[in-house]
Amino acid sequence: MKRETGDEMAHDQTRRHKKLYIETVGCQMNVLDSEFVAAALRARGYELTDDIRVADVVLFNTCSVRQHAEDKIYSALGRLKARKRRQPELIIGVLGCMAQKDQKRIFHRAPHVDLIAGPGQLHRVPELLEQVERERRQRMAVSLPRTAGSRQRVEASFETFESLDPDRLARYRPARFQAYVRIMMGCDKFCTFCVVPSVRGPEQSRPPQAILEECRRLVDEGCVEITLLGQTVNSYRFRHRDGRITRLSDLLAAVHELPGLKRLKFVTNYPKDMTPDLLEAVRDLPKVSPYLHVPAQSGSDAVLRRMKRGYTVAEYREMVERVREYVPQAALASDFIVGFCGETEADFEATCQLVRWARYKNCFVFKYSPRPGTKAVALYEDDVPEEVKRRRNNELLALQNAIGLEQNRQFIGRTVEVLVEGPSAASRRTADGDVTQLAGRTHDDRIVVFDGNRRLIGSFARVRVSAVTPTTLIGSIETTEGRLPSLAQASGSSN
Ligand code: SAH
Repeated sequence: MKRETGDEMAHDQTRRHKKLYIETVGCQMNVLDSEFVAAALRARGYELTDDIRVADVVLFNTCSVRQHAEDKIYSALGRLKARKRRQPELIIGVLGCMAQKDQKRIFHRAPHVDLIAGPGQLHRVPELLEQVERERRQRMAVSLPRTAGSRQRVEASFETFESLDPDRLARYRPARFQAYVRIMMGCDKFCTFCVVPSVRGPEQSRPPQAILEECRRLVDEGCVEITLLGQTVNSYRFRHRDGRITRLSDLLAAVHELPGLKRLKFVTNYPKDMTPDLLEAVRDLPKVSPYLHVPAQSGSDAVLRRMKRGYTVAEYREMVERVREYVPQAALASDFIVGFCGETEADFEATCQLVRWARYKNCFVFKYSPRPGTKAVALYEDDVPEEVKRRRNNELLALQNAIGLEQNRQFIGRTVEVLVEGPSAASRRTADGDVTQLAGRTHDDRIVVFDGNRRLIGSFARVRVSAVTPTTLIGSIETTEGRLPSLAQASGSSN
């Protein structure tokens, strides 16, 4: 973080009490982007609040992957309209993918918005905010569209890795013990349904040295779990000046060496890039979580072809078999889109078959949502009726739930090691006091809930599983370890 000069500090004084509310939808990359924006503003004296009613600045970090995600933001903006009339000094900003996609149209639909910044412009948010405050006029920063010129020109219109990813001071991170680290930006896969390549720009791999340094700092500050992020994270490939190539597997090996790090994850994977060197790394490096999220999207060749996914169902199955061969204990996860253009009942049945066969730990299932500007909209008709999409969505989820339940039942009576992440979703709404329902994850990413003291958050606990749902293991604490000597002693752990 930049040293504060006398001037900047004086300037800070005037903002000491400004409150920032930031709401994030969408993927992990958005969560990380919001963390950076919040950190940059906190470094300038803003205070974070989770109560929108008391905020001086309200930022929405948005997602464009489906229409529904955009609708939610436009309604949230609508709800702020009357308040902005009463309180004109309130600053409202729209950040992220919808900002890049809709640009000025956001000002037309919601004229009370002050600030728009695309995902490639987030490093400019503090400066834009200052301009809005000073000049009281709308400000917008977006990157060039992918068709605007040479790749270099378009790339240059997106922030660089180091312009946004700052020195990550622990006091500005949401959780001291875990962190996301960006290793790639953008996407070049151009799946026909997907808006990501056009809103997040060209695919770029970050220099390994910078990644390693960031990870080292995080671990030095007490981070025990790092998740490497990329739109297709296993496509990571950094070409050094001397022609050497660093792959994701090399990166995992290097980060793995950091003492103090306990778990290393990476999301999300592209099936075609699930190479043997990567599977060897997952097999041989004990800190690397045996958890692979590899979206299949469909179990029908005809649909995969129209999606331009670049593989057949047989190739996807070979990939799964390779995973089983190298890392038999790995938990697999997938995404599926139901009701893509032209999807027949037989295509959908093929997807169900793949799900039955692959025995995923969990699946995210989405109804196809046509995205303006994508190839699918230009080439195919969105011809599967909404009620059919809904039915297929429910059927596929029900199928996966049955599989999840069967898998989870095998954990009953067993003890699992959990990194305690925080109060469970249910207890966050109701609980006060020290003892509450906590939630955490196993090394292979299974969610575990159990009662315990809030002080356990950030440490490892051994939990004996007594009941399960399709997506959750439920149990009670046996022992704890890690940074809680008094509690650990009390519960008999040797740590
Ligand atoms: N590249 C990242 C993020 C893609 S968006 C990844 O692979 O995870 C996350 C998921 O949203 C995709 O895997 C896909 O299943 C779903 N998705 C993307 N575009 C969609 C669309 N137009 N309609 C419905 N679901 C979509």
